[in-house]
This record gives sequence, C-alpha cells and structure tokens, in this order.
Amino acid sequence: MHMKLFPRHLYIHWPFCHSKCAFCDFVAFQNHEEFQEAYLQALCREITTYCADYQAQDRTVSTIFIGGGTPSLCPLEAFKQIFKTLRQACDVSLLHECSIEANPSDITQERLAVWCECGVNRLSIGVQCLDDTVLRTLNRTQRVSDVERALTLAPRYFDNLSVDLILGLPGITEQAWQQTIAQVVTWPIKHLSVYFLMLHEKTPLAFARDKGLVQLMEEPALVDLYTWTVHELERHGFIQYEISNFSKPGYESVHNRTYWDRKSYRGFGVGAASFDGITRQVTTNNLTAYLTARHGVIPQSSEVLTEQQVFLEHLMLGLRQKKGLDLQGMVYFLNDCQKTEFNSKITDLIAAGLMEEYHGGVRLTLKGMVVENEVVVWLTSW
Ligand code: SF4
Repeated sequence: MHMKLFPRHLYIHWPFCHSKCAFCDFVAFQNHEEFQEAYLQALCREITTYCADYQAQDRTVSTIFIGGGTPSLCPLEAFKQIFKTLRQACDVSLLHECSIEANPSDITQERLAVWCECGVNRLSIGVQCLDDTVLRTLNRTQRVSDVERALTLAPRYFDNLSVDLILGLPGITEQAWQQTIAQVVTWPIKHLSVYFLMLHEKTPLAFARDKGLVQLMEEPALVDLYTWTVHELERHGFIQYEISNFSKPGYESVHNRTYWDRKSYRGFGVGAASFDGITRQVTTNNLTAYLTARHGVIPQSSEVLTEQQVFLEHLMLGLRQKKGLDLQGMVYFLNDCQKTEFNSKITDLIAAGLMEEYHGGVRLTLKGMVVENEVVVWLTSW
C-alpha cells in the first residue's frame, strides 16, 4: 500500500489576467475581477482542507510557486491572506524557494515589498520580447518601458531574478532577437527561460496563422537561432540545465526541477495539476464549479499512471535535462525484446550526434534537444 506523504512542493494558481494574450491556452480569465474575493476564499479553503488531512505528519514545505494567470495582479491583502493560510496549514519556516510570476507592468515598490515580506524570494518576470508593436499584436498589456522600470526596481528586493522570453514570435526578426539577447545578458538576473512559441489550437494567434495574417519563422532558422542563443547565453555565464532554462551557477529553479524529476507536488486553485508519485490529478478548470464546490469537495480528474506512461514520462522529462537519463532505470520498464531495440536506438542516436554518454547514462546534445519530441517518438515506437 502506498502511504501518502505530504508533498514538499506546492503550486498556487491565480487565474486572473489583464487581458488574454494571443498565444495563451492557460486557465486564465480576463474581466473577472469581481470573482477575486470568492476565489481567494475557495483557494484558502482548499489549502486548509487538504493540509488538514496530513495533520499527523511533518508538513514542511520546501518550494512554492505562485503562477497563473497573473499572480502579480493578486490584490495585496489577498496575497497576505494566502500566505497566512499557508503558515497555518503547513510549515513554511524552512522554505527554500518561493517564486512568483509577474507581469512587468504590475511591478511596483509596494507589491515588491509585500511579496518579500510574505516570504517570496524569487521573481520571474514575463518579458517575452522587447518590441512594443509585437507586444501589442500579442495583446500583452506591458510595454518595453515597463520592463526597464521593473528591472530597476526589482533588484532592490530580489537577488534571485528570472525573466521569460519567447523564441519564434511573429514580427521578431533574427537580428532583433540577437539584440534582445545582447541586452538581456546585461540585466541583473540570475535565471532565464527561453520558450519556443507554441501554437495552441483555437487561440487568436493560431487563427491568424491559419488565415495567413502572420508569418512564423521556418524551423531551420529557428533551430539555428536556438543554437546561437544557447551558446551566447553560456558565453555570458548562463548555463543551460534544461531545454528552455538557463541559470547562473546555483540558481537553477528547484521547484521546476521537481516536475522534471517527477517528485510529488500539490497544486491549489482552478485548473491546477498535482502528482503524488503514482497518480496525476487536475482540478476542474471551470471557475464556477471551483467556487461552488460543496463541502470543499472540488471536482478533479485523476489518472493512475500505467507502467508505460511512467516510462514515457521518465524518458521525456529526463531528456529535457542536461543531467540526462539513467539508462538502468529506463530498461527496468522494458521486456527483453524492447531492451535490445531501445539500446540499439540509443547507439544510433549517439552515432548521429543527437545523444552523448554522460555520467553513466546518456543525454541529448544541443542538436538532439532541438528535436527532442521526434527522438522520444522514435525511441518509443516498438
Ligand atoms: S498573462 Fe499569461 S496566463 Fe494571462 S493570458 Fe497572458 S500568457 Fe495567458
């Protein structure tokens, strides 16, 4: 029998946004401010009810990530209330990392001070790009001047600063991207995430692409630009530790690593995901259902992972990381026939320069990282 241990890692979802970005398919609501108070109450109730089940256990939390939506829009009194609830429900006195995602235009001295006072010690700023015309097309409310102002204020409160960028945005030329990176490496930041633009079905950006209204960068150019970016960031001391993540030594995100290492975490809030080592759960993304959950029983979908899914997750998440894959752990899931085929494919990938041996296991080379999805599909087609 699997004894449920209290998770050391918590995620808190604040789903409200100024406006809906053209590429976004997250659980995020615009023009719903009137629901913030009810949401706060539901969120605190969920945290309290969940933690009460572990009363007899050590409830020490190691990392918290407050994401969204736009958590930097969370009214400060509500923010304090969330942390008060957390302090009552579990032990956050030894919190190692506590991150909040922030929109540059929301960053003010007052907010920075309250976040710090509550225990936040890592700020992740959603920069995305440095071009006001593109930001407007994406329906983002921030402007480049907001980023500049945020980067002046934030270091007064946070040493551990991160920024997010999106590679492949329509309207950002190769040259403009290179100029952005040249600027970013001069900023007082310790961490950087560079995400490939993902086109999600039914988003305004996907419609615009389908109608031919926007042009996306072709894959070979994108691959070259990604490779250039990784080298350029490393030249400036930002070490790649995951496909999209780079940091100064010692500043890798501990919380995000729990996802890639398949450790247990609990997500609170509408649409939040959780994992207990065996089962993956997702809370309803229906705001009304979340707010009106009777007796604190919130609708959640839940899936016990099969061995095949566990294998696939290990493979996908392991290959995203520079520390690579432990091959011994992987072949445990395979029958003799599959083992032989798997090992032979690994040998082929090494020969093709897509993988390399590393610390007794293997990892993707930079060339391999760019085609990680294809590598995973090929490795798992028996
Ligand atoms: S701010 Fe983030 S969550 Fe909100 S709409 Fe934009 S991308 Fe989505």
